[in-house]
Amino acid sequence: MNTPKPTNLLPYNSYSLCAIAEQAYIPTNTSELEDALASTSSGASKVIVIGGGTNIILSKPYYDKRTCFIITTSMDRYIHWNGCICTASSSVPLQALIQESLDKKLKGLEKLAGIPGTVGGAIFMNAGAYGIDIHQHVLDVKTYDPTNKKYNIFSKEQLKSNYRSSIFQVNKEIIIEISFKLTPSNTPECEAETAREILSRRNRTLPHIFPNAGSVFKRPASGLRVGEIMEALGMKRFRIGGAMISDLHGGFIVNISQANGCDIINLAELMKKAAREKLNTHLELEQIII
Ligand SMILES: Cc1cc2nc3c(=O)[nH]c(=O)nc-3n(C[C@H](O)[C@H](O)[C@H](O)COP(=O)(O)OP(=O)(O)OC[C@H]3O[C@@H](n4cnc5c(N)ncnc54)[C@H](O)[C@@H]3O)c2cc1C
Repeated sequence: MNTPKPTNLLPYNSYSLCAIAEQAYIPTNTSELEDALASTSSGASKVIVIGGGTNIILSKPYYDKRTCFIITTSMDRYIHWNGCICTASSSVPLQALIQESLDKKLKGLEKLAGIPGTVGGAIFMNAGAYGIDIHQHVLDVKTYDPTNKKYNIFSKEQLKSNYRSSIFQVNKEIIIEISFKLTPSNTPECEAETAREILSRRNRTLPHIFPNAGSVFKRPASGLRVGEIMEALGMKRFRIGGAMISDLHGGFIVNISQANGCDIINLAELMKKAAREKLNTHLELEQIII
């Protein structure tokens, strides 16, 4: 069985935050995952799953044995196709799934082009862009419930889909496999072009030199964009420790020089406070603090 070792989580989070975890498992299949969870259930009080690590803030430099990390990126990767239905393991990079769907002339996922991370992470977050949320194309999701040691199937209707929110943020089950239903396209070159355009727009408008984890906040109910709010408040390039509000996109915090989780969280708090006090706008964190 895969044994837990003290692990530096730096390569497993897109902010490139340095954090030592006393207990981290990197299972390669579901049986190793089950073993890992069984061996931690007595000691660890908290199990944290990391997929691509592109939407998390590691708040501490050190996690003792009470927190058990499960890193899913080495789990079996597969996408099985049956016409316009596919089943992907949660460790598959979302971009690989999108590319295969385009190659098969299926539409539905093309507007998610450029969102980093795994399919499992995208389902947990209900990731989306350009008016599309990934749950719209889900048939069902297979999970592992570590408490009752059993596998469950959630239909699309059971996902409690909301903007960047899903039932898995509440029930803490581990996402194993996802089935999608896509739509055959008569104009596959259009979807491929849409994906290319979105990728090129992302490359132009989002920070990619410094490590980051995408939008810090959900889009406010007012419809204002966080980037525009920060621009209006003159907060771009504002810095705490090694963390800075990106000058390219004011909704992103970037790690410009060995930031730690507290730098990022404190900066996010400052952004929230400024938006509330100066524009009466409530900002809700999208990124997951661990
Ligand atoms: C440059 C950049 C651009 C981005 N653009 C977008 C965008 O346009 N739209 C958008 O929605 N997001 C965007 N994001 C955020 C992020 O990429 C998505 O939320 C992504 O879907 C997260 O996937 P992940 O595998 O990295 O999840 P992680 O960051 O690893 O985890 C996120 C959460 O999901 C949980 N989780 C992950 N895998 C599993 C699993 N198998 N079972 C149970 N829980 C799990 C984790 O515990 C954590 O709470 C962007 C990020 C970056 C860095």
